[in-house]
Amino acid sequence: MPTYDFVCKDCSHRFSLFLSIKEKDQVRCPQCQSPAVSQLFTGFLYNKGAAGGEASTKSSGCSGKSCSGCSGC
Ligand SMILES: [Zn+2]
Repeated sequence: MPTYDFVCKDCSHRFSLFLSIKEKDQVRCPQCQSPAVSQLFTGFLYNKGAAGGEASTKSSGCSGKSCSGCSGC
């Protein structure tokens, strides 16, 4: 069952509710009873930056056959 997050436009109160699609149109702020609430979409924060493995696998010193421009090898 999905949880929907809302914020009240009148008193800025944030709250979460278990709702069906039909009930989403009838949401009122539990604090001030205002119907002027907007839904928050906070369930998509999954990106934790675990990608990017092939950053620097090759050292860019020596360019291949001759090591004339490379001082390390
Ligand atoms: Zn409110």
